[in-house]
Amino acid sequence: MDKVVVLGAGMAGYGAAKRFKESGVPFEIFEKNSYYGGHCASFTFDNKWIFDDGPHISFTKHEDVKEIFAENTGNSYYEFEANVDNYWKGKWIKHPAQVNLHGLPPEFNAKMLYEMIELKNAPHKQVKNYKEWLYASYGKTFSENFPMKYTRKFHTTDAENLSLDWLGPRMYQPDLYQVIYGMLSPSTEDVHYIKGFRYPNKKGFVNFMSGVEKEASVQYNEELVNINLKKKHLRFNSGRELNYKHCFSSMPLNEIISIMEDAPPWIKEEAKKLAWTQCVVVNFGVKRMNISPSHWRYIYDEDFYSTRLSFPSMFGPSTAPEGCSSVQTEIYFSDKYKPLNKKAEEFIPIIQDELIQMGILRPHDEILIKNAWISPYAQVIYDHERKGAVEKIHNFLLENNIQFGGRYADWAYIWSDESFKRGEAAAEKIVDDL
Ligand SMILES: Cc1cc2nc3c(=O)[nH]c(=O)nc-3n(C[C@H](O)[C@H](O)[C@H](O)COP(=O)(O)OP(=O)(O)OC[C@H]3O[C@@H](n4cnc5c(N)ncnc54)[C@H](O)[C@@H]3O)c2cc1C
Repeated sequence: MDKVVVLGAGMAGYGAAKRFKESGVPFEIFEKNSYYGGHCASFTFDNKWIFDDGPHISFTKHEDVKEIFAENTGNSYYEFEANVDNYWKGKWIKHPAQVNLHGLPPEFNAKMLYEMIELKNAPHKQVKNYKEWLYASYGKTFSENFPMKYTRKFHTTDAENLSLDWLGPRMYQPDLYQVIYGMLSPSTEDVHYIKGFRYPNKKGFVNFMSGVEKEASVQYNEELVNINLKKKHLRFNSGRELNYKHCFSSMPLNEIISIMEDAPPWIKEEAKKLAWTQCVVVNFGVKRMNISPSHWRYIYDEDFYSTRLSFPSMFGPSTAPEGCSSVQTEIYFSDKYKPLNKKAEEFIPIIQDELIQMGILRPHDEILIKNAWISPYAQVIYDHERKGAVEKIHNFLLENNIQFGGRYADWAYIWSDESFKRGEAAAEKIVDDL
């Protein structure tokens, strides 16, 4: 039977499914997991603790996505103003650090300010990589002490190995007045690109996409393991086989290429150039309220594994029992730059100790739950091999009549709303083609 096939029931698969359903196109979704959500999945433990697959909140500006997400929760979600800070050498600094340097050593602040003034008067310089961009934006002192350290922890490689096409609004570029003001005053204007956010009041972040099962009957536990492009034939690990007429994929690019039995060797070589991070997620639930004043916190010190901390119990009371708090820690690795050499559980005591050192947990806290897992795909690494390889792989997929979209199919640093929209847009192309 010739079919329209959707690969993956994550946010991009949901976007595609919604568009097919609206257009009256018969289709099927195949998902390797036994649940929908992909990276937007939420997991419940002991019937009372909810942890997402890495911290997830919705800060979409797309009104249509906002509406769909809200509808899926029955218009029952929390709305917060984001409160974010940074941990640096034992101090907590409001985010973004570049405009909140009050209380840092005078030698540090004087040097940074001097370099910012020098930059203001320097001729414009073309930059070739993220390190050069940082130096040109903030000077050497700030760059080396803040973003270049964080880059090694989050992207797992040095700033000079990264291009600039992932930046978007992520790195705030202040004017000199804001830098000086932030050095002199303990209280500053909020300039984070995420101002406010929403979180469902039940079932975790995945509830924002609970409508996926209304759009289609998802075929769970169906991992695609082989594609024959010429015959347009798919084989799943269950033994199921089918021919497709049109295919939308949200699978990671490297994986879809690796299971093509008739793809030429050159494209397999391109796929091997792609780099991405794995995230070790370590969760704690503790019998104490208000363990953090901030929703999430960035950790710069390189002697700590912890890279970002978030506090699900602050996103919504339904994520933790009454009178309790929860914290989720992310730690990043990558096969290409910083291979993971421990089991997820081995990080639990290490992170517990780090959280105590940072003053978030206390030595005698009653820990009610602790667990850890590995998310095999977290962030796309924008190294200098990415762009060329991705262009070639995308062209190859389109030439072979496979539409794609989503974080790991676009191989891009995109959020859940953009993944949804990419799924919708790719499905639209298939609908136009029918
Ligand atoms: C740590 C972290 C934090 C994030 N925080 C936020 C946030 O706060 N807000 C936000 O909006 N976004 C956030 N994001 C981004 C968001 O998670 C992604 O944009 C979104 O989940 C990507 O959806 P997707 O459908 O493209 O990919 P995925 O979620 O990966 O979905 C792909 C699906 O395909 C399935 N699949 C893969 N291979 C096969 C196969 N062979 N056969 C069948 N099925 C297969 C997978 O199981 C999966 O369900 C975050 C991401 C990370 C990593």
